[in-house]
Amino acid sequence: MNLILLDPNDLNGDGCALITDPRRLMHLRDVHRASPGDLLTVGVQGGEMGKARLTELTVEHARFSLETLNEPPPPPLPVHLVLALPRPRMLARTLEHVTALGVKEITLLHTKRVEKSYWQSPELREDKIHQHLLLGLEQARDTQMPNVTLSKGFRPFLEQQLPDLLNHRRGLVAHPGMPNACPRDIQDPTLLLVGPEGGFIAWEVEQLLAAGCEGMHLGPRILRVETAVTALLSRLF
Ligand code: SAH
Repeated sequence: MNLILLDPNDLNGDGCALITDPRRLMHLRDVHRASPGDLLTVGVQGGEMGKARLTELTVEHARFSLETLNEPPPPPLPVHLVLALPRPRMLARTLEHVTALGVKEITLLHTKRVEKSYWQSPELREDKIHQHLLLGLEQARDTQMPNVTLSKGFRPFLEQQLPDLLNHRRGLVAHPGMPNACPRDIQDPTLLLVGPEGGFIAWEVEQLLAAGCEGMHLGPRILRVETAVTALLSRLF
């Protein structure tokens, strides 16, 4: 938690903020080893960042007085990430990493090699997803919550969502064995598609290419989803 991320509800209007949830309180005590008088980096969800002085820390609450709140969050990456739904633990880590890297639009997609049971996982509950996104924002010092949507059918995605997503975006499908290497340092608004742990099937890749996406690879090493996504984002932007 390099940033104390405040919910607008934590602010009480007179320049103070109060937090009462055990996770942030424990983190303040055990990781920051914060004590009253300390100046900490804070941000308001969806808003600005700045500094706040910790004025009280008890087992039940922490009170801050806001000193400055005028720094904008870092710029987002110009990417919409379409991620075939990975297994729940990998999903949790991947959401955290991509949020820390600045992704603001995420679609979780069903493909042939996604286990159907993953769609029933508690990790997909809204509050669980929110928790992973929060951790990513706190890690990277950002306040803008990503948008996560679930797309539970490949064909409906292809027919109903993809054409719009590719409007003004460069579509890139990460797939080992494609003839072209992943481009570097692009500025273009991008739709990046990453396959499941078993990869995209050939038919899915054909359909994505026919819809206007470009295939690309990251070299001969087959990377885990969370590693591939991190490598792709840092190479692309
Ligand atoms: N077993 C699959 C790979 C799955 S890796 C296969 O051999 O095709 C999971 C996903 O990460 C892939 O679908 C792809 O989107 C991405 N990925 C991993 N390594 C990659 C590489 N070397 N090049 C391009 N994409 C890669």
